[in-house]
Amino acid sequence: MKFYVASKGDHKSNMIKSIIEQYLLDFDLVLSKEEPDLVISVGGDGTFLHTVHDYFHRLQETAFIGLHTGHLGFYADWLPEEVEKLVIEISKKKFEIKEYPLLSMSIFYQNQQEPVEYLALNEATIKRIEGSVVLDVKINGQPFERFRGDGLCVSTPSGSTAYNKALGGAIVHPSLSTMQITEMSSINNRVFRTIGSPLILPSHHVCQFVPVNPDQSFLITIDHVTKSVENVVALEYAVAKQKIRFARFQPFPFWKRVHDSFISDER
Ligand code: NAP
Repeated sequence: MKFYVASKGDHKSNMIKSIIEQYLLDFDLVLSKEEPDLVISVGGDGTFLHTVHDYFHRLQETAFIGLHTGHLGFYADWLPEEVEKLVIEISKKKFEIKEYPLLSMSIFYQNQQEPVEYLALNEATIKRIEGSVVLDVKINGQPFERFRGDGLCVSTPSGSTAYNKALGGAIVHPSLSTMQITEMSSINNRVFRTIGSPLILPSHHVCQFVPVNPDQSFLITIDHVTKSVENVVALEYAVAKQKIRFARFQPFPFWKRVHDSFISDER
């Protein structure tokens, strides 16, 4: 089996990366940054996002594991004291694959035939540096509302514990193929009206944001990546056809991770 170990880049993560690499090479696994069957991300959930984006082009071939060098994470759910157990599991056992949904976002530009497409593991957001975002929200082609406010966030189930949670969105189990739209400070008065509640859409639905003024520039985030875009006629979101594959060696139920991350990690 071919593997690669990605590190956050700090001293502790680099040390653990070297230890894992040495162990796995001793177990006759092959190091391959370009075509790994398994990628081990060492750092945090943020590091995991960076690592996964580097392999979005080979999601069908590559499975992922995250090891956290700080606190327990959602993607990085192995801890430094479990390194030996992890490498033994990787070298000895055929692992189980758990698939989680991703979000696809297509940006349609003026004077451009084909949209530019992106994948997100946590979420995609739209905001502005100055002033409010004003967008027509359509669901399956039908006008739903005109949104005016700081911005909108569309998250995956596994991203529901990240930015989405801070915006008051629901935590969604990643076995559900859904996307969730949450508002960032919508303006609601006698002139402007939005639903105000997070919306959870199934995998066969599509949602579009249509800028009311396409000449404005917007800030788009896709997980940790931020882009400034102009001349946008529409942004389209859907549950992606591709999924991310996690290598699972031990059960770690999602609700236990939620409990240990947000309530208490005392066993
Ligand atoms: P960052 O601002 O340096 O870190 C964001 C925090 O979110 C880190 O503590 C990270 O955990 C945690 N995180 C990432 N994915 C998570 C998940 N699925 N569930 C729970 N927590 C998660 O940014 P970054 O490291 O580049 O990560 C980008 C992410 O930051 C975005 O995808 C967005 O979800 C999140 N974010 C959150 C807020 C907010 O909560 N108000 C605002 C902006 C962005 P680690 O410490 O383990 O890396």
